[in-house]
Amino acid sequence: MKARAKRPPGDGRQIVTTPPEQTLTEFIIDEQRKVPHATGGFTALVNDLGLACKRIANIVGKGPLVDLVGKSGTINVQGEAQAKLDIVADQILFRTHLRSGTLAAMLSEECEDVRRIPTEYPRGRYLLAFDPLDGSSNIDVDVSVGSIFSVLPDPDEHAEVGPDAFLQPGTRQVCAGYAIYGPTTMLVLSLGHGVHGFTLDREIGEFMLTHPTMRIPDEASEFAINASNSRFWEPAVKRYVDECLAGSSGPRGRDFNMRWVASLVAEAHRILLRGGVFLYPRDDRASARSGRLRLLYEANPIAFLIEQASGRASSGYGPILEVQPESIHQRTGFVFGSRAEVERIESYHRDHNERRYDAPLFGSRGLFRDSA
Ligand code: MN
Ligand code: MN
Repeated sequence: MKARAKRPPGDGRQIVTTPPEQTLTEFIIDEQRKVPHATGGFTALVNDLGLACKRIANIVGKGPLVDLVGKSGTINVQGEAQAKLDIVADQILFRTHLRSGTLAAMLSEECEDVRRIPTEYPRGRYLLAFDPLDGSSNIDVDVSVGSIFSVLPDPDEHAEVGPDAFLQPGTRQVCAGYAIYGPTTMLVLSLGHGVHGFTLDREIGEFMLTHPTMRIPDEASEFAINASNSRFWEPAVKRYVDECLAGSSGPRGRDFNMRWVASLVAEAHRILLRGGVFLYPRDDRASARSGRLRLLYEANPIAFLIEQASGRASSGYGPILEVQPESIHQRTGFVFGSRAEVERIESYHRDHNERRYDAPLFGSRGLFRDSA
């Protein structure tokens, strides 16, 4: 009797894959039902955020096909040369939120002052801070860029909103997230109950839930830091990086990989998806003594996501989210990612608070040794 031929795998069986079904709007409606006394204003706010990000994704995706590549010739409040797309993205976020009565004011990286909702529109209960286009210096080389946003409650509905209203610690955020404009456009956000990722389906124009409940692994084998600043680093940072570089023959007993995209959104996205640690610590340069990244619209919203995904976000010395802001464009050192790695970096900062780190592993041959 002839042996029956083996069926090749999959033969005769239909593989059925169901596309993601839940849109961002449906997700927010479900979330809002869990909050007692919710008014629906929040659904409108997140919808506006999604719409603004779709508009920005559309323009960013056209690249040099529209005349929006390159520098605008202007300098922003941070002293940075603005790309044309920085300004366009800022205007899109501002205008998209004017009408729905959800916000009282907005704060942007690209604008020195807080912008109130004009009196012709209804005033809402929330404040929105954003970095309209993060990583924009990378845009001409087609590296992923993004938009970062943070939503705070308006502390006093009856007072005129000024900068002080935004000076709330990150623990007060009611929603935070980012859009990343890469090979796909994604919106990743948290309303304080986990972190959820939505992928833009361009044909139907909706963000679809593709990454529910994202979680960062506790341990990491990838670190991201701009090593060209190593001669300015604090002892704790030098020690941490030296020990990673020493790999399996060093005190960590295992090998690490290094990553550096120089785009906060892209770094945060990678870490949310596969773990790792990111460091942009404060250092000895005059321009970085208090850190480089902005607390209210870069560090706080990313920290909110990282903590909601079981990671840890720190200034190096303690939790970012507990920092009481003193000014709206304030900068901070920022370390985030897998919890165990960030806790280790914090412990090194405590150890080296008073003492210098003398790089015992590498001495004068250390890759990242002190400059003489
Ligand atoms: Mn940025
Ligand atoms: Mn920016």
